Amino acid sequence: MEELLGIHVRSPRDDFRIREVTVDHALRPDPLPDVDYSFNPYVGCFHACTFCYVPRLLQLDRTAWGTSVTVKRNAPTVLAREIRKLPKGLVMISTATDPYQFVEGRYRITRHALEVLLRAEWPVSVLSRSPLMVRDLDLFTQFGTIDVGMSVPTLDDRARALLEPWAPPIEARLRCLQTLADAGLRTFVSFAPAYPPTGDGTANAIATEFAARGIDEVFARALDARWGVREAMLSRLQESEIASELMRISDGPYMESFLVDLADACRSQGVTFHGDGRYRKPNPTTVDASGSSPKT
Ligand code: SF4
Repeated sequence: MEELLGIHVRSPRDDFRIREVTVDHALRPDPLPDVDYSFNPYVGCFHACTFCYVPRLLQLDRTAWGTSVTVKRNAPTVLAREIRKLPKGLVMISTATDPYQFVEGRYRITRHALEVLLRAEWPVSVLSRSPLMVRDLDLFTQFGTIDVGMSVPTLDDRARALLEPWAPPIEARLRCLQTLADAGLRTFVSFAPAYPPTGDGTANAIATEFAARGIDEVFARALDARWGVREAMLSRLQESEIASELMRISDGPYMESFLVDLADACRSQGVTFHGDGRYRKPNPTTVDASGSSPKT
C-alpha cells in the first residue's frame, strides 16, 4: 500500500505496465446530450472491472484490460491550447478511464487538466472510483460550475471485490463523497452498472446510506452483459457464497424492479434519482427527476 497525501493507494501489480505517450488532441466532442467534451488523461485502467465497457468502446482485447495504462503526458498542455479555440462547454472527466487510478498520484495529469480548466472558467463534471479524488478538493471548490461523483454500484464490499477487485473499497468511496459533500460541492453517485442487492442490502438501506453521506443525486444504469462481459463476470464468481445473488445483475426484470424500489427510496430520502444511466448529464443548475446522466 502506498500513501499519497494521507490517502492509501494500492500498489501496482508487478506485471502492470505503464507507458507514456504524447497526444495531438485532448478534448473529444461527446455525442451524448448535455456533455460537450470528454477528457481522458489515460488509456487503460488499473481497476480492471469485469464489466467495463471501455474495451468494447476502444475495440481492445478484454482479457488484456487492466494490465496496462498509457499516460498522455502532454494532455494538459494540449488541452490549454484547445480551449483557447473551442466554444466553452461542459467537460466530463472522464469517460473511458479512471482519472484517479494510482498513476494519477505520480503523473498528476488530471490535476493539471483541472488547473487549466479552472483558469479558463470551464464547467466540469468529474467521476472516479478512487478516493484519491479528494487530493484535488482545493481545485474543485474554486470552480463556478462543477459536480463530483463516485461510482458506488453496491454497498456490499464482497460484491465489489468480486467484480472490480482492483478498485478501491466501497467505504473509501463513500468517505470520499462525504468529504466532497461536506466541502459544499454538488455530489453524485453513479450506481452503474447497478449491482443487485446482496447480503443485507436493500433499496432502503442503500438510499439511507447515500442520504447520510450528503449525496445529491444518483444516476443508475443497468449492466450491458454483452461483448464478453457475462463470461468475464462468471469466471470471477465461481465458488463465491454470493454468486447466485450477484448473478441477478443480468436479470433484466429483476433489476428493473429493484431500481424502481431504489428510485422510490432515494426520492423519499431527498436524493434525486435518474434512472437512465447513459452518458448524458442534465444542466447542473436544474434538477430533473426524469433526466439521465453520463455516469459510468
Ligand atoms: S474504473 Fe471505470 S474505466 Fe476503470 S475498469 Fe472500472 S469501469 Fe472501466
